[in-house]
Amino acid sequence: MTTRPKPKLNLRILILIFVMLSAIATLANSFWVTFTIQKQELIENALEVNKAYASRIARSVEQVLNSDLDKLKYSSFVIGKAFGDKQNLTEEAQRLFGQDASFNSVLIADAAGTIIASAPENLHLDGRTLQHREPLSLRVPIISNAFKSMAGNLVVFVSHPIFDAKGEYLGLIGGSVRLEQRNTLQALMDTNVRKDGAHVYLVDSARRVLYHSDPEHIGTVAGKGLIDDAALSHDGGTLQAIDADGVQMLAGFARVPISGWGVISQQPLDNIQAILRHTMAKVAQGIAPLALFGIVLIWWLGARISVPLSRLADCAKRLDSPDSYERISAIPTRYFESWQIRRALLLGATLLQEKIGKLNQQAQTDALTGLANRRAMQDVLLRWQDAYKAFAVVSMDIDHFKRVNDTFGHGVGDETLRAIARLMQQNSRSNDLPCRVGGEEFVLLLPNSSLQVATDVAERLRASIDAANIETVGHITVSLGVALWHPGGDSISAVLERADQLLYQAKQSGRNRVVAEQARWEAVAIGSSL
Ligand code: GH3
Ligand code: MG
Ligand code: MG
Repeated sequence: MTTRPKPKLNLRILILIFVMLSAIATLANSFWVTFTIQKQELIENALEVNKAYASRIARSVEQVLNSDLDKLKYSSFVIGKAFGDKQNLTEEAQRLFGQDASFNSVLIADAAGTIIASAPENLHLDGRTLQHREPLSLRVPIISNAFKSMAGNLVVFVSHPIFDAKGEYLGLIGGSVRLEQRNTLQALMDTNVRKDGAHVYLVDSARRVLYHSDPEHIGTVAGKGLIDDAALSHDGGTLQAIDADGVQMLAGFARVPISGWGVISQQPLDNIQAILRHTMAKVAQGIAPLALFGIVLIWWLGARISVPLSRLADCAKRLDSPDSYERISAIPTRYFESWQIRRALLLGATLLQEKIGKLNQQAQTDALTGLANRRAMQDVLLRWQDAYKAFAVVSMDIDHFKRVNDTFGHGVGDETLRAIARLMQQNSRSNDLPCRVGGEEFVLLLPNSSLQVATDVAERLRASIDAANIETVGHITVSLGVALWHPGGDSISAVLERADQLLYQAKQSGRNRVVAEQARWEAVAIGSSL
């Protein structure tokens, strides 16, 4: 048989590993699914929020510009009636400038583009020529892109044409909005600053940044990028794209139709990842106590499953022990396989015990006659000795048995031995033990028997053999010696020895007789002689 090394893994650890692995796989899977869905939802949500935000700002900017144009329209109507009145023009320019924070400067130019009135005075614009001549030729309300003003400021110019009552073009009235300075547009944008890491900016159609939540960017020209392109070419929408700085952005955009500008609200994708990481960490924290409880539960359940098996295995190692049936029966089996193993072990234990019993019996039985053999006799005598049970020993030997063998053969000799054994059994009580201790030597043990009773039994046995007609052989006789053992007396072997000596005396005295000890030093022969 090849011996394999004892495995280090036990069932309990295997169950734990197996359940842990499947739990980890399930958890990882649900984590991944949750992560992906959450990420997608956060992205979609961020895109929608940015779009809604950009649209709201675009609408507000549109309203501001519309209201600026309305104010200019009103003024153009007023001054169109008395365009020659310089004083009136200047007053109107000053009124418009001072009315609110819409414009950082107001100017009125004639049809040739010469500024004829302006406010505030400190800019000294009167007499200068308009830089931005497009409104003069188009003669419609115009909101310009950003440009550097005469004073060197970055401005947007909002203008309205002036016509007289006959509809003749007189010039224009316009207001500049300085992008770096406080004005209504700036105020509007600043009230909408977001705190979630998103930033918003406004670009004109030439991509120049008119407003940015980070003022550093105001006036710069945005590099070519998908997001700005989309903002300027679509009315509104969302886009996940890399911006001009190479950062992945989630953007929402909207157009300001009146000016052709675009509003972009965007936030880096990394923001979402950070939120997601935070959320997933919280999920993991939430799961941890339950997972720990799960491990303890699995450990406990593992023990419930493996303990009966290891106890059964332990019992299986000692199936030959006399109490193995009881020990196996006491093991609780709560599930089918352990119940099956227990049943198989009980069956095995029963069979083994039966086998052992049979072998024991064989080891203690004389094969030829079925009587107890010498070993069985020794065992019984030791037990009786331990129990202080007095007993008598009748030692018996067949007379001239050699002749039987010589005359009739060994087989007939064996048959004769069996016949003698049967006669012994017939002449003994249920508690007596007839034994075959040698070739044709027998012993009859008589527990709790007096010498007299034992002598009577021996005599009866002798007589019945003497009287028996043994098949083939016919008449046969035996000689017997009777000795007594009592607690505190001689040793067992001494008593057996004495019985043999008495038997020898019986042989010496002529055979076919019983010689019993009367007292330790006096032996009497009884029975008939040949
Ligand atoms: P005695 O009266 O003095 O006892 O004479 P005996 O011939 O019986 O002498 P002894 O006891 O010495 O002889 C024993 C004989 O028993 C010798 C042997 O041939 C025979 N014998 C011993 N065991 C067996 C056996 O198992 N079967 C048979 N058939 N014969 C046996
Ligand atoms: Mg003999
Ligand atoms: Mg003999």
